[in-house]
Amino acid sequence: MSEELRSVILFDTRTQQKRPFEPQQPGKVLMYVCGVTVYDLTHIGHARVFVFFDVVQRFFRHLGYDLNFVRNHTDVDDKILKRADEKGVDPLELSARYIEELDRDMQALGVERATSEPKVSEHIDDIIEMNKALVDKGHAYEVDGDVYYRVESFEEYGKLSRRKLDDMEAGRSGRVDETKQKEHPFDFALWKKSDDDQLGWDSPWGRGRPGWHIECSVMSTKYLGPTLDIHGGGRDLIFPHHENEIAQSEAASGEAPFANYWMHVGMVNVAEKSEDGEDIVRKMSKSLGNFWTTRDVLGGYHPEAIRYFMHTTLYRKPITYAVENLEEATRRVQYLYTALKRIDETLQRAEYDSDENLPPDSRLADGFTDLVEGFMDRYEAALADDFNTPNALALIAEVARAINEATESDSAPSDALAHTLVLLRKHLVDAGSVLGLLERDPKTALDEIRDLRLKTMELDPKVIDEKVAARVQAREDKDWERADELRDELAEMGVEIMDSQQGTTWRLK
Ligand SMILES: [Zn+2]
Repeated sequence: MSEELRSVILFDTRTQQKRPFEPQQPGKVLMYVCGVTVYDLTHIGHARVFVFFDVVQRFFRHLGYDLNFVRNHTDVDDKILKRADEKGVDPLELSARYIEELDRDMQALGVERATSEPKVSEHIDDIIEMNKALVDKGHAYEVDGDVYYRVESFEEYGKLSRRKLDDMEAGRSGRVDETKQKEHPFDFALWKKSDDDQLGWDSPWGRGRPGWHIECSVMSTKYLGPTLDIHGGGRDLIFPHHENEIAQSEAASGEAPFANYWMHVGMVNVAEKSEDGEDIVRKMSKSLGNFWTTRDVLGGYHPEAIRYFMHTTLYRKPITYAVENLEEATRRVQYLYTALKRIDETLQRAEYDSDENLPPDSRLADGFTDLVEGFMDRYEAALADDFNTPNALALIAEVARAINEATESDSAPSDALAHTLVLLRKHLVDAGSVLGLLERDPKTALDEIRDLRLKTMELDPKVIDEKVAARVQAREDKDWERADELRDELAEMGVEIMDSQQGTTWRLK
């Protein structure tokens, strides 16, 4: 590699420290992220994990790294079997359907595809092979058609979640399944016996199906090798899922560590009213009924506003889902697109609509040199510091503010200002693309946001247009009282009208 790539600092869950990221091969990143068990629509907790690792993917590529990113689909699992049974459908048909639904939601959110998206059902032979290797090495044993991992055979069990088997055993509650004849209560299933009418495959231990954890060890090794540069997922997966992945992978390959850096995304909380009417924040969960699917949220908010909202909090921290937060994010995205639109309008007045017909004068407008020349370095530095998206958004806002100030005048810009605006526009778009923002044409995005807001405010644009037209007529008729009445009615609906020489337009407040 001829040029030095910018280095990135990551917070590693295992060592609980921020460390400079050193990939095994310079310039190459091997990343595995746990996907979703596909038996229902995704919720915004899943969406947060997908959007975050989408930013990781986009940023490494932006910096010039060669990224190989694997994200799996858990399409064989007891939750899927149960749901398929309830619905009377084939389990693999059910999971295939929810993979499609997942793809639809993530595509709507602008989440880019991973390099590989393998499924459990297509890796059964590989899973049986790894299970056999674990049994042969004494790390696993069979009991009546089930195969269990022997946690006591792996000395470092607990090293990711910083637990010790002895302490866990002392503190365990009824959460451990003790109906099976396991050697140790924390031994976990690598293979589960299937009844004749259940989904299953033939194996050395009889007909059965994989346990949950083994798939990630198998698929990550198959596509990326025994040692990952980065392993990611939601915080809720640290224990037992990721702990078990380490135990399986390191015992099977004899190589450690399984992953050099562990990155975990925080949970989503929900702002609610308590029974006494107080504002409270609770963990989002199905059992509490405060549950938001990605589909629900996309029905009410613009995809880039949802992403903006997620970027306002550092990925490791919990984030609070609240209507006000989504509305504020919507206003911020509107503000950024308005800045782009104003650049376009200003450049049109100077007849410079792109950098191809830039003014020959390459000077920058006074006072902009630092912003124009220093922006990308500061922006990359913010994200290279453990993906600090709140700081990255603050830098983007600084550019948008400068654009708004520079485009206040209605007159044609000087050559130096036109040049400056072209460069600032490029900065905003390049910076936005790393976060999955500003990926649309400004007019399209502003219209989409307006239409969604009209829908959630239950307003019909036709009714607004009619009232606006009636007010224009009233003003022409010099019926000022009626004109004011109509303006007040519109204001009541949340619509603001703006009169200018070009005519009367309206916007949502
Ligand atoms: Zn996993």
